[in-house]
Amino acid sequence: MEKIEQGHSEMAKQLKDIFGYDYFKNSQEAIICSILAGRDTIVVMPTGAGKSMCYQLPAMMMDGMAVVVSPLISLMKNQVDIVRNHFIEKSIVHVLNSTLSKFEQQLVREDLISGKTKLLYVAPEFLLKEENIRMLKSLKISFFAIDEAHCISEWGHDFRPEYRRIRQRIDKLRRKIPIMALTATATPKVRQDIQDNLRIPDAEIFQTSFDRPNLYYEIRKKTDAIDKEIVVFIKKHAGQSGIIYCRNRKRVDELTRFLQANDIRALPYHAGIMADIRNINQDKFLKEDADVIVATIAFGMGIDKPDIRFVIHYDIPKSLEGYYQETGRAGRDDGEATCIAYYAYADILKVGKLAKRKSLIEQDIIRQLLAETAAYAESNLCRRKSLLFYFGETYSKKNCGSCDNCIKEKQMEEGREYMYMLLETVKDTQQRFKDKHIINVLLGNTTADIRQFGHEESSHFGEGYEKSEPTWRSLIRQALLDKLLVYDAENAGVLKVSEDGERFLKRPYSIPIVSEKSKHNEDDADGDAISPKGGAIDKILFSMLKDLLKTVAKHENLPPYVIFHESSLEDMSIQYPITMEEMTQISGVGAGKAQKYGQPFIELIAKHVEENEVERPQDIIIKSIANKSGQKIFIIQSIDQKIYFEDIAASENLSMDELLTIIESIVAAGTKINIDYYIEGNIDQYHREEILEYLQKTQEDSLEKALKELGEDEYAEEEIRLMRIKFLSDKGN
Ligand SMILES: [Zn+2]
Repeated sequence: MEKIEQGHSEMAKQLKDIFGYDYFKNSQEAIICSILAGRDTIVVMPTGAGKSMCYQLPAMMMDGMAVVVSPLISLMKNQVDIVRNHFIEKSIVHVLNSTLSKFEQQLVREDLISGKTKLLYVAPEFLLKEENIRMLKSLKISFFAIDEAHCISEWGHDFRPEYRRIRQRIDKLRRKIPIMALTATATPKVRQDIQDNLRIPDAEIFQTSFDRPNLYYEIRKKTDAIDKEIVVFIKKHAGQSGIIYCRNRKRVDELTRFLQANDIRALPYHAGIMADIRNINQDKFLKEDADVIVATIAFGMGIDKPDIRFVIHYDIPKSLEGYYQETGRAGRDDGEATCIAYYAYADILKVGKLAKRKSLIEQDIIRQLLAETAAYAESNLCRRKSLLFYFGETYSKKNCGSCDNCIKEKQMEEGREYMYMLLETVKDTQQRFKDKHIINVLLGNTTADIRQFGHEESSHFGEGYEKSEPTWRSLIRQALLDKLLVYDAENAGVLKVSEDGERFLKRPYSIPIVSEKSKHNEDDADGDAISPKGGAIDKILFSMLKDLLKTVAKHENLPPYVIFHESSLEDMSIQYPITMEEMTQISGVGAGKAQKYGQPFIELIAKHVEENEVERPQDIIIKSIANKSGQKIFIIQSIDQKIYFEDIAASENLSMDELLTIIESIVAAGTKINIDYYIEGNIDQYHREEILEYLQKTQEDSLEKALKELGEDEYAEEEIRLMRIKFLSDKGN
């Protein structure tokens, strides 16, 4: 007992003497005791909770040198600088990697051999070289620390194959050396993978709670107005630091330019930017010369800016783990921070398609992770509870008070009967299926699988027809969160009834669920459970504008979309334009359209603003980027000169698809163009007439539907698009 206490006070003293801290954070002390005692140790600690101290301090206290395996060179450099700050001798900590010259590497090796170095950072590739193993064999090694250990698992968000060989290489040293695996993010599955792969079955596991009570989580529906919504959001949070994550470089560049055009101090960060500039941008952000960094996901690993007040995901992340990690960079100072993710189901499909080039196993994993992300985004249950569940943690509060789903008013109804139906259906189909199949059984959808397994014969087939698919998806989620259903440990995604579930079936109790009615009130008819909260789109105004549009369209005898696109109405519901000038700034509304149709909309908005004392974002006049309009002018002029579309596309380096998209936006904004010269040479007369007739009578603006109605075999998508451009220009403008 005395010895342990002595040990503790020695640790506390070292902590103070070396690193200047007065006390340990979280479970640091217990973790350090574990490794000092020579035990294998797994540390799962959210970013910012003091993970690196768990190996830095014992490395200084133990005999020999600790080896830290870390995936990123920039991360290592940053760490080495931080540790060196506390010492006079540089040699106490080193990094050994390929960025050093041969000469520098030699100096480092000399320090290692002389025993001056207590902490060495290496990349996993370092261990793959025989000469390095030979050198490590000749040194006394106190322990190995495997940082970012989730890289071991294909189920993690950042898989690195070379991580899976670490254990095998350590074994080459032929000594028992304790291993510490550290990660800021690990689902139960990833944790198991880490333990199995590093072969540390008896490791002591330290898991700090993943709850970040100071973070507010929100999912917003992604619309064409997203860029403007983001500008409005940032202007409302002027002077605060934030990160915006986009999936690709192109989007990063475009959004950065758009923000800069709107006087926001934003800088880009992605792998396509030269390293020097990247570092300068990162530095500016850290030193507050820039407020916003627009980045691909590579940004932020290892940077420690405590006062990031918002993290926005422009595209929904590929996994919930990645999402948690990235949002986790906000509010490290424990101050409040906002995390907004934009969601469109189309994005999920896109990522799924991109994955097609990978191996079947990888594809399966990607699809499963995506399905979980989609379920999270579409769910109307507490975001915090869902996120923590993902990390194997139970959140017991009924209302977290700090996520969109908890703060919005919901109408609840009794769900006992439906929960019973769901669990019975899972049992009745032998607990061998994933959520999609179970839902198909409940809804009575005859799919190939349903037929193959004869589930049309099940007494539950079609039993749940009263409820919609999203409601069943949500109910399955709720069952998982309440632990009535569990995932099968062997088959990813397969649902099983748990012991708690069996108890429920024996004696069903009350289960409140979110009523479908309350969802339909706030969302569009597509049954999407996502609603843009936080005052982005004025829903009441939006529905009034929609009604007005219908009336005007009827009066003009035109389909509504010919007059204004729904996305333009959405934008009006954000910007509240009350002058003709402001109306021309709305997305998809040019001067022509504003003059022709704008007046009644302006009047309606002005009345709404006055009656409800709406605070308009007047000072926020959104500027678009100039070079895009330059291209549009060139295209309009070319069409005036009757230049063939193929030639216009070639000279602007566009695909035909891209060119048509631009022309569509030109026409949608109210500019009149005449493309008859091109149509006449490319579409036969009969097709022209048929398509026009169809466009005249339909109320919908769906290419897909048009193709179906007209006949996919006979008509090409391009023909319909061209005729629609003509139709819109002739009738609408
Ligand atoms: Zn909540």
